[in-house]
This record gives sequence, C-alpha cells and structure tokens, in this order.
Amino acid sequence: MKILVINCGSSSLKFQLIDSETEELTAKGLCERIGIAGSRISYTLTGHEKRKWDAPMADHKDAVRLMLQTLTNPEDGAVKELSEIGAVGHRVVHGGEHFSEATLITPQVKEAIMECTVLAPLHNPANLQGIEDCELQLPGVPQVAVFDTAFHQTMDEEAYLYAIPYRYYKQFGIRRYGFHGTSHQYVSRRAADILGKPYESLKLIICHLGNGASVSAIKDGRCIDTSMGLTPLEGLIMGTRSGDVDPGVLEMMAGKDGKNIHEVMRILNKESGVLGLSDGFSSDFRDLEDAYLEGNNPAATRAIKAFVLRVAKYIGAYAAELNGADAICFTAGIGENSPVIRELICSPYLEHLGVELDKEANNIRGKERIVSTPSAKTKVLVIPTNEELEIARHTLAIVKGK
Ligand code: ADP
Repeated sequence: MKILVINCGSSSLKFQLIDSETEELTAKGLCERIGIAGSRISYTLTGHEKRKWDAPMADHKDAVRLMLQTLTNPEDGAVKELSEIGAVGHRVVHGGEHFSEATLITPQVKEAIMECTVLAPLHNPANLQGIEDCELQLPGVPQVAVFDTAFHQTMDEEAYLYAIPYRYYKQFGIRRYGFHGTSHQYVSRRAADILGKPYESLKLIICHLGNGASVSAIKDGRCIDTSMGLTPLEGLIMGTRSGDVDPGVLEMMAGKDGKNIHEVMRILNKESGVLGLSDGFSSDFRDLEDAYLEGNNPAATRAIKAFVLRVAKYIGAYAAELNGADAICFTAGIGENSPVIRELICSPYLEHLGVELDKEANNIRGKERIVSTPSAKTKVLVIPTNEELEIARHTLAIVKGK
C-alpha cells in the first residue's frame, strides 16, 4: 500500500509517499509560501532529479490539489491513479491529553484537535486544514492523525506537573506535554534493534538536537520524561529558543525593556537560544561550529559551550531518573551531523556514566552507527530520525486495525 504522509504548517505543506511493504520513499515534495506572494513547489520522484517551480497557491486547498496533480503527472508522477493511495497519515502537533496514540480521523477526533488549538495556536489549525482538504480531495481514503505529543503521554504526574497551584492543571490543562514524540519513538525503537535487545527492557536517553531540540528518557518502552513542556520553549537551548529560564527573567525583560508579555514571548522564541547567546551571529550550527573550530569568535564559542552544557545536564538528570542508561542516542540535524557537538557533550561531562566515545567511529554524518567503544558501559548511538516513516507505520497499523 502507498501511504501519503503530510506535515501541514501555516504556510507550507511537506509530503512523502511511502511504500508500506518496502518502507521505501517513493516521492517527496514541499509546497512553500502558501497564501503568500511567490509560492512554489519542489518535488522529487525517488531516483530522479528534484524539480522546483513557481505555482500560485492561495490556500491549503490549492496546495493539496497541486500535490495530488504532481503525484499523478504522466512524466514523473509516483502513481498512475489516486486510488493507489491507500491511506493518509497527518502529523498533528498537539493532541493534549486526548490522544496517547495515533488515531483514525473522525468528526470527534477533529473536534478534539480543534480543542487543543489553545495549546498549539499556530500549528493545530494548519494541521486540521490539511486534514479537511485531504478528506475533500481524497474521498473514501482513511485519514490518520499522528500526534507529536502522544508518545509522551506515558509520563507520570510527578514528571508532567508544574509546581504551580494544581487548579491550573485541572482548569486549563497547564502541564508538561512534550514534543518531537514521533522522532523519540522512532529512534528509541531503532536503538533497540541496533543493540539487539528487547525494547521493553531498555533504558534509553534520546537527544533530538535540531533547530528545535529535546531530550527524552525511555524506560521499558515508555517515555518517563522529556525536556519540552507545555510548549516547545522549555528545556534545551535551541536555535532561537531560550529553553529553561527563571520566570523572573520575563518580569525583568518586561519591566526594564518596556515589553509586553507577547513581545517577551517572541524574544524567547525567536531571538534567543544560540542566536541570542552568540549576540546575533547565527542560529545555525554549521556557522557556529565553523567559528568555534577557527577559535577566534568568542560569541560562537560561548553559545556552543552553553548549548552543550544544557544537553549534558539533561542527560545527567535523566540518567538519575532512569537509574542508569543502557544507551544515549543522538538524532536530528545537529545530533546526526555534528561529531564535534557529540564529543563536547560526551567528554568530559558523561564519563562518570561510563560513556567512552570512539573518535573514529564518531566521525560520521547522517549515518546509523554505534559510536562508543566496545567496552563503554553506556553505549552512544547515532540514529538518523525518520518521522515520516514512523507516521506511515502508525497509519498502516491503524488502517489494518492493529
Ligand atoms: P528542524 O527540523 O528543527 O528545523 P533540523 O533537524 O533540520 O532542524 O536541524 C537543523 C540544525 O542542524 C541546524 O542548526 C543545522 O546547522 C544543523 N546541521 C545540519 N547539518 C549539520 C552539519 N553538517 N554540522 C553541524 N550542524 C549541522
């Protein structure tokens, strides 16, 4: 069966067509600047050249139409007819406490996704729009929602509650939810395969280090803690997000700098992280790493050091929660591609856990590999994430009624 995986943002739509039998990518594409001047699409049929062209897309309906036309075009389409698409899997950012796993989309499910809009005001409405446009243009094809938050719903209340008056949780659902769940789930399962051990008997720490970054602790196949919270702002230092800060910082930014709460939140989300720490030098780790290695850019050096320290602190905390870890896994843009950052995190901070990086093995980018020495007590793995494949797997399982 061919499964169409869709990740719909406010002005973009990413898609992949995956063959569920072989788990191979058949085609992929991206519609950008939907509803904005200069909208365009890029498309690649596996094994062929990527094509890019300008195409007017006034809304997501136009984007879905263009995606389906492209997937069926006679020259480099991926299917002859739309009927070859057996199911659609949608990435949905927030499932609140409604969803602890993927689910077939029904009117009730759509209502629940709408209810969660208060928790993800930018993302859920766009996700829902993509769902409704696909329902219209692919009638009769099962649509499945796969939530970024679902994998973390196994956390216990001591991990997910904030120490604020309990009524805020009861009345408004203010608690920690966590994100990147699909990635943490894919990588942790893959780690079990690589280590040749049952998933249900492993203690794992997964570091998803991309523009957005989070760490999670997995025990016996369940997520027991994760670093993002009510929103993706909590936890690690990220490209432009601050991660953990004392809420007193917000009060002082507002008071001293004359900002209202929305402006403060924008600064914490868009102007902070390594971008803020490097005094505006860059939010991109390729730039930061180059400058760090050249050794004459103190702003880049301080951003990298602070980033690394924060990751190491979370790993230390999760090693305590897990009472020791079998393996630490690195994934996403930085985790997969930066031997330097992996090394700075592991040594010296994690030596007490029995982490020993094999420098030669660690010198890889974007490949799956064990990068610790054979004698290391806690293994270190690099595992490229594949959220789309994980979404396709969940979608297939739902469609097959598993
Ligand atoms: P997101 O999906 O959250 O936008 P990604 O997982 O794509 O983010 O990660 C983007 C980050 O990965 C950027 O900071 C980028 O610089 C970093 N990155 C990608 N390739 C490399 C590399 N070769 N070396 C170091 N960092 C890299």
